[in-house]
Amino acid sequence: MIDLLLEEHSLWRGQVPPAEAAFLNSVHAFAGAEVAPFADEWERAEELPRAVFRKAGRLGLMGVTVPRRLGGRGFGYATYALAIREIAKHQGALAIDIAAHNALAVGHILSQGTRAQHRRVFPRLVNGDWIGAWALTEPEAGSDSGGVQTTAVERAAGRWELNGFKRFITLGRKADALVVMAATGVNEKGRKEISAFLVAKSQIRPVRKVPTCGLRASETSEFRLVKARGELLGERGSGQAAALACLDKGRIGVAAVSLGLARAALDAALRHAVTRKQFGRRLADFQAIQFMLADSEVELRAAELLVLEAAILATKGARHTRQSAIAKLYASEAASRICNRALQIHGGYGYTRDIPIERYWRDARLSEIGEGSSEVQRIVISRALLKSVDDALASAR
Ligand SMILES: Cc1cc2nc3c(=O)[nH]c(=O)nc-3n(C[C@H](O)[C@H](O)[C@H](O)COP(=O)(O)OP(=O)(O)OC[C@H]3O[C@@H](n4cnc5c(N)ncnc54)[C@H](O)[C@@H]3O)c2cc1C
Repeated sequence: MIDLLLEEHSLWRGQVPPAEAAFLNSVHAFAGAEVAPFADEWERAEELPRAVFRKAGRLGLMGVTVPRRLGGRGFGYATYALAIREIAKHQGALAIDIAAHNALAVGHILSQGTRAQHRRVFPRLVNGDWIGAWALTEPEAGSDSGGVQTTAVERAAGRWELNGFKRFITLGRKADALVVMAATGVNEKGRKEISAFLVAKSQIRPVRKVPTCGLRASETSEFRLVKARGELLGERGSGQAAALACLDKGRIGVAAVSLGLARAALDAALRHAVTRKQFGRRLADFQAIQFMLADSEVELRAAELLVLEAAILATKGARHTRQSAIAKLYASEAASRICNRALQIHGGYGYTRDIPIERYWRDARLSEIGEGSSEVQRIVISRALLKSVDDALASAR
């Protein structure tokens, strides 16, 4: 059975048709049987088994919004967000990997690839036989995606050679198909021209799995490209714009990871508050604890609705850059606060690794950084706001 969010929230329910609700029930069962029992083991091993991605693929989790003709489920973004949230309640690392695969790698190939490219990578990329990764970030190109130093040169018609170094790439060393952003020259405005390339696993030289604070079972990778063969994905020079459009979808997934972690932490805090006694009373009887619980519930509900708003627009195919940025900014920061409060409510027990509260807390922190930091989201939101005012003033003149 799907959880209270869908049962209680008529707004979410209205966005999830019966077939999609049935899919969410199967994701719920999968998370309970195939993810929850192994979450601690994977965390300790700092590794996710390949088999879990195959099982996720068979369920439809590796191509939630991909059209059915390409082997995907063809579902909307509300369902996508709820599916990612469901996995994140048990394992943030698996949720972020599945989200990056769906929205970034698969999303970019779907929107920019040719029919021939689609035929080659789909449906293996959506049935779980293959994993995808999306590589924009480099040592000199983080928040400033225009700083990409990886280069691509066309050696013969359609034969591109890539050289460079990519850092912090989710699933980078595991992926069978990678989308790699590289500089292909300088555009007419004198700025770096960035293009996207489809690159096969055989073409990358893995460097290392980066040791991260949270999401330890996720494969955050560095790799080198040395005379790597790549195939242009989309028009030459369209890479940065296409990447930003993918991030609009990607941020819904990151926000959904935040929702799942925060819900898991809050549920655990509620259970602990009603069972733990101090001074002869339940922790839940102290007003200081009640207020922490209330603030967490309010923030989480607000975050859920902001994610829903972005998801509805994405499903409609409407522009949602600002709404995705708002949802990701608010959900990620709220999740950090909620996990922090949950840890506090657990006292010393929350600080131990005997229970997963500290894991939720570490895992939640990434969402304030990945796919554009909170500062970058504030830039996106304020830019959109100011542009609408400028446009209104200009049309009134
Ligand atoms: C676990 C993990 C997984 C990731 N997965 C991927 C992936 O799959 N693919 C991929 O391409 N990348 C990935 N990334 C990279 C991620 O998107 C970047 O880390 C992020 O965009 C920030 O870039 P940076 O780390 O270089 O920080 P920087 O850009 O160096 O920023 C450092 C600080 O300065 C602030 N800052 C920067 N510019 C400004 C500004 N103009 N105004 C105000 N503040 C500013 C930032 O907000 C931040 O607080 C991943 C990162 C991590 C940690």
